[in-house]
Amino acid sequence: MLLLNRFGGTMEIADSKFIKNINRAIILEEIIKNEPVSRSDLAKITGLNKVTISSQISDLLDEKLLIEKKSENSPGTSGGKKPILLFLNKKCAYSLGLELKKDSISSVLTNLNGEITQKEAFSVKKTSPEFIADKIEEIFKYYTKSIKNSKFGIIGLSVGVHGKIDKNNIIIECNNLKWKNINFKKMLQKKFPDLNINIKNNNYFSVLAEKSFYDIPNDPFIFLNMSAGIGMGIVIDNNILLGVNGLSGEAGHVSIELNGRKCYCGRRGCWETYACENAFFKDLKDLKKKNISYDKFSKMLDNNEIDEEITALLADYENYIYSGLLSIINIFDPKLILIYNRILNIYPALVKNLKKKIYKHNKIEASIELSELKEDSCCLGACISNILGFLNINFLKLKK
Ligand SMILES: [Zn+2]
Repeated sequence: MLLLNRFGGTMEIADSKFIKNINRAIILEEIIKNEPVSRSDLAKITGLNKVTISSQISDLLDEKLLIEKKSENSPGTSGGKKPILLFLNKKCAYSLGLELKKDSISSVLTNLNGEITQKEAFSVKKTSPEFIADKIEEIFKYYTKSIKNSKFGIIGLSVGVHGKIDKNNIIIECNNLKWKNINFKKMLQKKFPDLNINIKNNNYFSVLAEKSFYDIPNDPFIFLNMSAGIGMGIVIDNNILLGVNGLSGEAGHVSIELNGRKCYCGRRGCWETYACENAFFKDLKDLKKKNISYDKFSKMLDNNEIDEEITALLADYENYIYSGLLSIINIFDPKLILIYNRILNIYPALVKNLKKKIYKHNKIEASIELSELKEDSCCLGACISNILGFLNINFLKLKK
C-alpha cells in the first residue's frame, strides 16, 4: 500500500529487483531515522509485510551494514521474549566531505550515520588545481590511517566548490581559486580510480545537509549562505533544484541597486556586494580606516563598544539584507529560510529587526532561522551525498 502511494502507477510495471531495491531503501532510511528498531517496529513504520522485512534484514546483516542486539528492556505488557533491536553498523564505512576555500580546505569525516567523527581545516599555499588535487590526496591518506579497522573504509569523496559547476561536474568558474573550465573530478579520479567522487557547488551540499537535519518533507525551503558571497540552496518537492546547467541559486548576483557597487561578475549593484559578511567587514574597514576582524567585532559587541557610526552601518546592513531576503521569500514562498551569516549569529537584534520588517508583509509565513550546522554544512552535505550513493537511499535523517 505504501509503495503504491509513494510511486503510483509505476509499481505495476516494476520488476521484482526494482521493488526489492525500493523496499531496501525504505527499510534503511527508517532504521537510520528511528534506530534502534525491532523487525516488528519496522513492519509497522514501513507498511511492509513481516516476510519482506525479515528477508531484507537478513541480507543487510550478511552485508554487515546492520548489527543486532537484544533489548535491555522488558518486552512490555504483552509479555514474551525481549525484542531484538537493529542498528546501522555505523563504523563499517566512513565518508569524506571537503570544501575548497580561498586559503584552506575544510574537511569532515562522518561515519555511515552522518555523525561527524573528525573535522579539520588544512591551509593551502597555492591554488593551482594540481596543487589542490595533491593536497586532497594527502588529506585522504591522513583520514584513511585513522579508520584502519573499518570494513568498507572511506566510501566516497565529495568536494564543495564556491562557484559554478555544471551537471557533468566541470568547474565552469570558481572565483576564489581563479579556476575556469576545470575537470577537477577527472584529476581526482586519476588519483583514486575506484572511489566515488562528486564535485558540486558548496550551497548544493549545504542545503543537502540542512534538509537532512531539519527534515521538512514536501514544503519548499531555502538555505542562504551569506558569508564570503551570497549563494542559495533551493529545495522544492523534496528535491534540490539544480537548474538546467546546475547553476541555480546565484542569489548574490541579483542587483538591488542599478548603478550600485561594482561586482566581480561585471555587473553593478549585486546583492552580495552589500549584504554578505565580507561586504560588511569591507564597509567597516572603510569606515574605521583599519581592518576589524570577526573576533574583534564580536568582542566589541560584547563590551558595548559600538559607536554611533557602527550602529548606522549595522542599520544599513540590515536594510541590505532585508531588501534581497524579502524578494527571495516573495518568489519562493518557502516554509523555512535558513541563513548562515556570522554577524547575525552574534548580533541577535539584527535578526529580530529583520523579522519585524519581513512579517509586516502580512502574507509572509516563512520561518526565518539561523543555520545550526553553521560552517560545517557544506562538508557534512558532501559526506551525506556519498552515503546516499553508497547505501542507494534517497534520504538520511541527521540526528539533532
Ligand atoms: Zn555580481
